[in-house]
Amino acid sequence: MVVLAGCKPEKTLPEEPSATAMTEGHGGPSYAMADFSTVRKFDAHVHANDRGTALLEQARADNFGLLSINVDYPDFPSLQDQRAIAVAQARQDPGHFHWATTFSMKGYGSEGWAGQVNAALDRDVAEGARAVKVWKNIGMVERDTQGRAIMLDDPGLSPVAEHVRALDVPLIAHQGEPYNCWLPLDKMTTNNDREYFAKHPQYHMFLHPEQPSHAELMAVRDRFVAAHPQLRVVGAHMASLEYDVDVLAAFLDRFPQATVDLAARMSQVQFQSNADRAKVRDFFIRYQDRLLYGTDLTQSPGADAAQFKAETHAVWQSDWRYLATGESQRIEVLEADVAGLSLPRAVIDKVYYGNAAREFKL
Ligand SMILES: [Zn+2]
Repeated sequence: MVVLAGCKPEKTLPEEPSATAMTEGHGGPSYAMADFSTVRKFDAHVHANDRGTALLEQARADNFGLLSINVDYPDFPSLQDQRAIAVAQARQDPGHFHWATTFSMKGYGSEGWAGQVNAALDRDVAEGARAVKVWKNIGMVERDTQGRAIMLDDPGLSPVAEHVRALDVPLIAHQGEPYNCWLPLDKMTTNNDREYFAKHPQYHMFLHPEQPSHAELMAVRDRFVAAHPQLRVVGAHMASLEYDVDVLAAFLDRFPQATVDLAARMSQVQFQSNADRAKVRDFFIRYQDRLLYGTDLTQSPGADAAQFKAETHAVWQSDWRYLATGESQRIEVLEADVAGLSLPRAVIDKVYYGNAAREFKL
């Protein structure tokens, strides 16, 4: 390698387009920051957990549609309240607000559980739900009557998965945690993960070797996706393969029915593009039909509306600067400056809207 590199006299370099410039030219021109508010966009992963409409108002102001995902998460309002909030906001602004339903694992294993869940999903889809979410509680929290972890590929979940397929809505699957969760604090790639797991040791899987490993959770998820080849699956949070675009590419190659959202994992992408920007940029171009922009922005009950709107706008602008433009910005969780990917406009249009419109039938 050293010999090859030395073969090219340095003085000829300025006369040739650099590798980066050639890649940049591929696919056409990119957008600028000034295009942010005029391009139609969609955030495919938010949580509107408050009756106040700050998130929806900011979405309208910044030309975003929303998919608010209901989750059976103890820190969120009850499933009933999440549903009521979603239905109300979708009624108020059906052009901008969309929602995904979910189901509780309560009663799992009892006679009639799947039938009850499926009847509720029928009702929710009839009411406008665009997708169904399964969360990491399946695989990491829920136990059967014998105390064994209920994994996503458990046969008892199959009738629900097949029903979601028959309803022709995607299943949004959040399985596992960021890979950092299985690493010691000093090996984690981003400060947000380091701080979160330092404060929440109960969720820090490095400290809990008795729990399933990241590899086991991914293998279970893959078996589940393989067992339901007609089911459209959206892998939330880059399908928990945020740590390596090559691994994520292999997942997308293996499962043509799968897409992934980018929610809450942009700093992982930026960490990788700071190491090899051309590789990450090529990943986005190659999988431009399979990636959904999303953030995980969560409007908590009672949140200050003005402050939440400002934070939302800042997150959306930062991500636009990174994906759509070539501008650099400081990313605090990486303690580094990150150069934008300057993705071609056609790619941005798909990642930011077209793919979501297709998957969620907007
Ligand atoms: Zn989320």
